[in-house]
Parts: sequence; C-alpha cells; structure tokens
Amino acid sequence: MAIESINPATGEMIEKFHTFSESEISNALDQARGAFRSWRQTSFGERGAALRRVAAYLREHKTQLARFATLEMGKTILESEAEVEKCAWNCEFYADNAEGFLADEPVATNAAQSYVSYLPLGVVLAVMPWNFPYWQVFRFAAPALMAGNTAVLKHASNVSRAALEIERVFRECGLPEGAFRTVLVPGSQVDKLIADHRIAAVTLTGSDPAGVSVASAAGHALKRSVLELGGSDAFIILEDADLDAAAQMAVRSRFQNAGQSCIAAKRFIVLESVAEEFTQKFVAAAAKLRVGDPLDRDIQMGPMARGDLRDDLDQQVRRSVAEGARVMLGGKMIDGPGSFYEPTILAGVTPQMPAFREETFGPVAPVITARDVDHAIELANDSQFGLGGNLWTRDLDRGRALARRIESGNVFINGMTASDPRLPFGGVKRSGYGRELSIFGIREFVNIQTVWIGPAENAPAQQTSTVAAE
Ligand code: NAP
Repeated sequence: MAIESINPATGEMIEKFHTFSESEISNALDQARGAFRSWRQTSFGERGAALRRVAAYLREHKTQLARFATLEMGKTILESEAEVEKCAWNCEFYADNAEGFLADEPVATNAAQSYVSYLPLGVVLAVMPWNFPYWQVFRFAAPALMAGNTAVLKHASNVSRAALEIERVFRECGLPEGAFRTVLVPGSQVDKLIADHRIAAVTLTGSDPAGVSVASAAGHALKRSVLELGGSDAFIILEDADLDAAAQMAVRSRFQNAGQSCIAAKRFIVLESVAEEFTQKFVAAAAKLRVGDPLDRDIQMGPMARGDLRDDLDQQVRRSVAEGARVMLGGKMIDGPGSFYEPTILAGVTPQMPAFREETFGPVAPVITARDVDHAIELANDSQFGLGGNLWTRDLDRGRALARRIESGNVFINGMTASDPRLPFGGVKRSGYGRELSIFGIREFVNIQTVWIGPAENAPAQQTSTVAAE
C-alpha cells in the first residue's frame, strides 16, 4: 500500500511512499530501543552538543526544509521558514536548560540523604499532525531526547517527506543510529505500536477521535501518554480594548496557517458596545489578505491542507449560515485547482451553531456578541475544549482576574496565543492532558525516581520500617 503526498495548492501528486512492512517497523523499534541503551548513558553535554548541531543544520537548510512543508501541506513559504527557525530555537533552548530542569533535587527527610532524580523512560512514540509538520515534532523531540529518551515518529500521512527529512536531519547531525526513527504507517496501526513492548510511552498531537483512540490504547497497555488535541479558543474583546490592535491580531491569529492551528483564535466574543466597530475593523483587515500560491513570498495565506478538510469547513459554514449566521466576508471555496478557501468572517453567531460548537480548522472567524463581561466569560467556557484563550482590555488588573475564570491551558492578554519553549503548553477538558515545553514538558517522559539513603536520623530502625511500609 502506498502513502501519497499531494500538493494542496495544485492538487498534483508530489511523491509516493511505501507503507512500512511488519519487519521494517520491527527493525525501527529495535533500533530505537537499542539506541536508548547507549543514549541514556550520555551526558547532558553530549546530548546538548548533538542538539546544537541539529539547530545549526536547521538554520542553514531552512529554505530547503521549508519548501517540503509548503509543498506537502500548503502553508506559505515564509511561515514554513519561521517554523524551521522555531525548531532550531527549541533545540537550543533544551540544549541550554535540560541539565538544570532535570538535576537531582535534594529533599529533607529523616534519611541521611534523600533526593529526586529524573531518569529517561525509553522509546517514546510520537503521533503527530500535519499542520506544523516540523514544529509539532521538534516541540516533543528536543526535550525527549535531551532527557535521554529515544523516539519513533508516526507522522500524519500527508507529510511523509517532512517526516523522513526530520529523521535524516537527526541522523546526519550525529545522533546515534535509531535515536530518532520515522515509520510510515497509517493511523490504524498506532494501537499496535503503543502495545509493543519496545515502546515506553506515547504522545499525540491531533484530533479528538485520535485522542480517544490513543488514550484507550495507552490505558490498555498502562503506558504514559500526553495528548495535545483540538481547541476552540475564545478571543474576548472587552469595551476598553484597543480595537485596532485587537483587529490586526485577530486576523493574524485566525488566518495564519490558513486557520489550521490548534491555538488559533476560533470564537471572537465581543462586548455588545464595541461589536459593530470591532467587526468592521476585523473585516477591513482580513479583506486585505493576499491569498494564493504559498511559494510566492508576497502571499499571506495558502490553501487548506487537503480537499476533504476544506469540504468539512465549508459544511460548517453552510450549516451556520442556514441557522442564521451572516457572512461578512468570504464564505465559500475558491474556484480552480487546489483547496483554497476564502478568508471568512461570520457575524451573529450563536452557541447552537456549528461555527461555535465545533472546532473550525480553517480560515473561518465567527463573531459572537456578549451582553456583558460575565456573559463573555460564560460563552468562552461554553466549549468542550480548553486549550487557549485571548483577552483584550486596557485594565490589566481586570484582565488578570478574568484570566483565572477562563477554563483553558493558557490565556494571552492583549496578544496572540503562541507556543514558546519557555512557557508550558497544553490544555484541559477535551483539549487533552499533559504539558509540552518549558520544565513541565521535559518532565513528562521521565521516571521521577525517589532515592532514600539511610540510616534514618532520630528514629529507631523498627519505626522506620513501619513508616516505610506504604
Ligand atoms: P488527526 O486526524 O487526529 O491526525 C493526527 C495524527 O494522528 C496523524 O498522525 C494521524 O495519522 C493519526 N491518527 C488519526 N487517527 C488516529 C487514530 N484513530 N488512532 C491513532 N492515530 C490516529 O488530526 P489532524 O487532522 O492531522 O490535525 C488536526 C487536529 O489536531 C485538530 O483538532 C487540531 O486542533 C489538533 N491539533 C492540536 C494541537 C495541540 O497542540 N493541542 C496542535 C496541532 C493540531 P494519519 O494521518 O495516518 O491518519
């Protein structure tokens, strides 16, 4: 069976890959497991040096790597280049900080000495999506490798070239053979991989159904899992917001990557008193977006990644319009080759409509009017998701207080949600569990080992053993 990469800007097939056979998969798992034995023994200095080489390689070959992403999934070439740069940053960030994040921590107890160590777990399986074909992988891989784990990547089936390139980069930059392996298999094979005794843990970035499937398989195998799933982030605009800045950022947050970002603003909740003014500014700014060939450096928005995803989005728009949403901009597919969709803004959206209730994974911005601040927060939390959130106000004390009432893994006040290696990233509710990035991310795939060294102080031996019985 073959896996195909199709250029979403033209509809043409770019490349065909063969699906890995049982023995190729087994060989990859053996290699990853074998590499773990030696890699775990290396020092942070050695691992850091390897990741710095990877970072340098990524920067040097940014243009070439970026082109693969643009061809396979349609993001603009400038976005692809920025993505490769960000991967380099993450490698350097963990090369610089992993040793500090995972240093032994002394804990005062009745022991002569007791401390906590952070030890690698083994081979971590990464099941990743196509929307940031490099970043999603490096966001996981840099900390996992610095912690002493090795990795097997099962990437989304429409970005196989990027998946193979990432494996090649790690290999050519001197990581041991097998420390990072890619396997080309469909999503239906993931359960089997999770169950395999050579896999220690699994991380998934993807949709809700994939999350349910991976969590079930991980639960069945009693293996640790991290899930980064969908989002429907609120972008709340209060009456004292800087409406010009909010409108500019709304366009960036909703339409970058053709709207295909988990942390894109997906529900624009605006207080009644400023709703009309904000909507006008938002529409005016979005109408200026230049949509077209993503390889063209003047283009700001490319096609959606696949035709079926565009069909789904179009249905969400049509169903919302049928229920009373008003099209303020766009609202339909763009004729011609490729899976382009018009930048779309819908007004008069209510919580029953698909554009509010479901995740819209494309260039569609629903605007919802709130009576007052309490109503805005209620609307923001009226979602099965809880990934990110945005809040626009000039009153920062009020902003901080309201942030605590928003049920999400992050809140960005007067700015756009973006991941940053220095800050934890992840969600609550159906957006998943666990965290990536920062100190929290690198501690997901470690064995937090307690070490207790006797004799106990000030306690008879008998008492110590009783206390230690649980
Ligand atoms: P997807 O269909 O869930 O695919 C993601 C990965 O999971 C792919 O490698 C896919 O493989 C695999 N997969 C699909 N079904 C599976 C199953 N039943 N069991 C195991 N693996 C399975 O998601 P997508 O359409 O590529 O990405 C969009 C979704 O990801 C959105 O909901 C978005 O919000 C979410 N996302 C979340 C984050 C975050 O950090 N929270 C970041 C980006 C995207 P195949 O390609 O072979 O099917």
